[in-house]
Parts: sequence; C-alpha cells; structure tokens
Amino acid sequence: MLIQHPHDHEHDLDLEAALDFLNTRELEHGQVVDRLERPAQPRDWFVGQGVLHEEAAGTWTDPDLVRIRAVRDALHEVVDAVVQERRPDPEAVEVVNDVLAQGVVPHLDCDGTTVRIGHRHGASPVDDAVASLAAPIVHELASGRPDRFRICANDTCRWTFFDASPTARRRWCDMKTCGNRAKAARHRQRAKQGPATAS
Ligand SMILES: [Zn+2]
Repeated sequence: MLIQHPHDHEHDLDLEAALDFLNTRELEHGQVVDRLERPAQPRDWFVGQGVLHEEAAGTWTDPDLVRIRAVRDALHEVVDAVVQERRPDPEAVEVVNDVLAQGVVPHLDCDGTTVRIGHRHGASPVDDAVASLAAPIVHELASGRPDRFRICANDTCRWTFFDASPTARRRWCDMKTCGNRAKAARHRQRAKQGPATAS
C-alpha cells in the first residue's frame, strides 16, 4: 500500500502570514484603523497566499467582510489574552471554535492500491479562508511555543508577532522601524524631562 501526500496542492497558511493578517486592524496615530475596507481585499489576499484557488474563490460580499473581520478580531483577542496571561473573552473563543469546525479537512482518496491523502473543502471559500487563518495560530498555541507570542512594546504600534529569535527577548515587531522609533521617543521624552530624571 502506497501512501501519497499531494504536495502540489495544499492550502496551509504559515504562522507569520496569519499574524500579518491579524495586524490588518492596527493603530495609526493612536487610533484604531481597519485595513480591510472592501470584501475583495481579504479575498485576494487568501488567493495570493494559495489558500483559495482563484477560480473557486468567488466574489465576496459585505457580510463576508464582516465575518472575516470578526474572526480576525477573535483570534487577536485570544493571542492577546495569552500574551497578557489573562482569560480570553468567551465570545472570541466561541468564534474561533466555530471556525475550526469548518474549512478544509484531510480526506483519504483510495484509488486501487494507492491511498492518497487529499482534502475536502468547507461549505464556502470564506469558511476555508477563516479556518486556514485560525489553524496555524491554534496549532502554535496548542502544541508549539505559545510563550513566544508577543505584542509590540511600542505603544503606538501594538502589533502581534511571534518571537522566533534564539534568545526569545524580542520586544518590537520590527527592530529597525518600531524598535528605533520607540527608542527615539524615549530619548526625546528624557531630553524634555531634563538630565535630573533621565536614567
Ligand atoms: Zn511594532
């Protein structure tokens, strides 16, 4: 019996991409802004990531946009709660659990003496998309390194990221931009306060 895994055709999203998606709701000058403004934006993003086939992705509508935002925010809440060592909002947990029950599931295809591990899609492209978004995050929380999730230490950023550095001491989503910006802001603050309070 031969078992084949069709590597040419999978729909997995990696963790970094999933976290990028969570950060589409972000802070700008202290205000929350949502980068997902039109249904076509998330649709095209999932196609670009290989989660959905272009020809099968369909046209997304406003309710789809509302749903994808809700799932994104629920996942964000769960990750934030883990980072902040608090209990997540039960509604967010429920949203994530609903999502996990949908989407692409592994499926055996038997053809003569060959067993192929294929997959079956969810009821809609949006179901597949939200499930693929939740999967790498939930996998990391369950059996990876949940202590490596971070919220950027720059208070004007607060991006969610995963710290894959050897020392696990990363504090900023991006050292070059956020880290330096935060340092410069602190420096200005100290300069304003004068040398007596600087430390
Ligand atoms: Zn940042």
